[in-house]
Parts: sequence; structure tokens; C-alpha cells
Amino acid sequence: MKVGFLGLGRMGSGIAANILKAGHDLAVWNRSREKAEPLVRSGAVLARTPREAADGRDIVITMLADDAALEQVLSGDNGLIAGLKANALHISMSTISVAAADSVAARHASQGQRFISACVFGRPDAAAAAKLFVVTAGDAADIARARPILEVVGQRVFEVGERPSHANLVKLCGNFTIMAAIEAMGEAMALAEKGGVKKAKLLEVLTGTLFDAPAYRTYGQILVNERFHPAGFAAPLGLKDMRLAGEAAYDTVTPMPLLSLLRDRLLETIAKEGPDIDWSGVGLTSARDAGL
Ligand code: NAP
Repeated sequence: MKVGFLGLGRMGSGIAANILKAGHDLAVWNRSREKAEPLVRSGAVLARTPREAADGRDIVITMLADDAALEQVLSGDNGLIAGLKANALHISMSTISVAAADSVAARHASQGQRFISACVFGRPDAAAAAKLFVVTAGDAADIARARPILEVVGQRVFEVGERPSHANLVKLCGNFTIMAAIEAMGEAMALAEKGGVKKAKLLEVLTGTLFDAPAYRTYGQILVNERFHPAGFAAPLGLKDMRLAGEAAYDTVTPMPLLSLLRDRLLETIAKEGPDIDWSGVGLTSARDAGL
């Protein structure tokens, strides 16, 4: 298949590499061009603009930081919308707002182009190993068309509805739940250490009993090893997701008091530790608050 890929950050570079490895004809674009170089050396075609990356492609994937980045890539004479042919499919993998996904879906529809969301769970190591969980929503025929690509990048694909933004809503609910698990573990580990029990021992008991789940195992290990740098998922992106979950909560009139607390904890962590820390750095804030 002729595929275009835009956004070669921590996640996008691994995902794009797996699409290339599966034998697809891949054009790549990234704002900072040097991140495209390893893929070009492996056989991808370098596009100079988003328009060029979309030109003549059956499927174009975006994996960008946020709503603003996607807007920049989509719009204008050199944008993705200008380059995408009629009936070609845009798969948005970025964690963007529900409102942005609805608006992008409508813009593509007005141009006779197709659009689905396919959000992912898993960190950059999972992206590189093609072990992501993909949550997709959109027209069934579009998803069927996207499946050969989605299955190459992930270990399992979930379909959650016909409205593309429902995938974004599920992704935001998921990241809220992960953040809550990290905060809970960070506080519990601070308590254990203050009381004289090693946090590694606490994690062994938690994950060996009632909390044997990837979120607890992965983030618990990061908290135990204090591996907050380099960030796999940078705290400002986590903060963005709490903000987007908050916007969805506002729009649907859904009180989420825990979400407000988690947003403040991330803000505090970024304020004290700087923006380069992983979002699991909230655990460091719990430790410091406890005088550890
Ligand atoms: P990242 O490493 O910071 O990469 C962000 C990408 O967006 C880069 O390609 C960057 O280009 C591009 N970008 C940012 N602003 C732009 C702009 N104004 N115009 C054009 N391009 C712009 O982030 P990431 O960790 O790969 O995350 C990407 C998306 O996946 C985010 O929505 C994130 O929430 C989501 N996500 C991340 C993880 C994770 O664990 N990291 C897991 C699941 C989902 P440059 O290279 O030029 O800066």
C-alpha cells in the first residue's frame, strides 16, 4: 500500500519503522527533518511538506503532539488536506481532543476524503516492538481498509464505534485512569518507604496479588527505579491529556474531582522538576512531599 506518515517523534518513529518493515511504500514527513533520516536510510521517501507526504497516497497517518500541531499540518497550501486525493484515508493516531477529531472528520468529509481515529496505548518501546494496543473508531469500511496497517503496528485492535472521536474519548479515559494508578502507587510507595518497607517489596506484593496489570507493572517499575529521565511520555503531554479529558468532562457535564487533582499534581511536578520529566514523575513529587 502507498502510505504517508507525518510526525516522527518518540512514538511515530517506531510506528513508521514497522510499517516500512512490513513492505509498504512509505513517504515520511517531520517538522524537524533530521528525525526522518534513519527511515529514509531504510527505504522511506522523504517528503518536504505535509502535502507532499499525502500526495498520491492511499492512507496517511498522523502522530503529532497535540491539536495545534495537527492543525498546522492539515492546513494551508502545503497541508495534508491539500495533498490528499479523494477517497484517500487519514488515520489520526495522536491523542487529540474529542472536539478536534470531530472538526477534522467534518473537514475531510467536505473534501470527499475519509477519516478515522486510531489512538494507541503503549510507550515508545511498545511502539518500536509493534506491541501497541490500538483503539479505533470510524466508518466500518474505512476501518477494514486501515486494519492491515493497524495490525502491523499493534498487538490488538479495538473498535469502539462509528464516530471517529469516540476513539479519542476512550483514549483520554484510559490516560486519566493510568495517571490515577501512577499517583496512587507514588503515594503508596512514599508511605511504605516512610514506614520502613522498600518500595520494590511493595510493588512485588501489589503486582503479585490484586494489581497484576501492565499499567501497574510498567509504571511501578519506573517508580521503583526512579527512571523519570529521559521521558518516554513527557509530563507536558500527560498534562495536555488531563486538560483534554477535562474539556470532554466539561462538554458532557461530567464531574471528575480526581481528574482535577491529577492535573494539579502534574502541574506541580513540571513546575518543580521541569518539562523534560516523564509523567510518572508525579511519584517523585509524592516522595519529595514526604521528605524522602
Ligand atoms: P514527541 O516525541 O514529543 O513527538 C511529537 C511530534 O509532533 C514530533 O514529530 C514533533 O515534531 C511534532 N510536532 C509538535 N508540534 C508540531 C507542530 N506545531 N507542527 C508540526 N509538528 C509538530 O511525542 P510522542 O511521545 O511521540 O507523542 C505523540 C502523540 O502520541 C501525542 O499526542 C501523545 O499524547 C501520544 N501518545 C504518546 C505516548 C507515549 O508514551 N509517548 C503513548 C501514546 C500516545 P518535531 O520532531 O519537529 O518536534
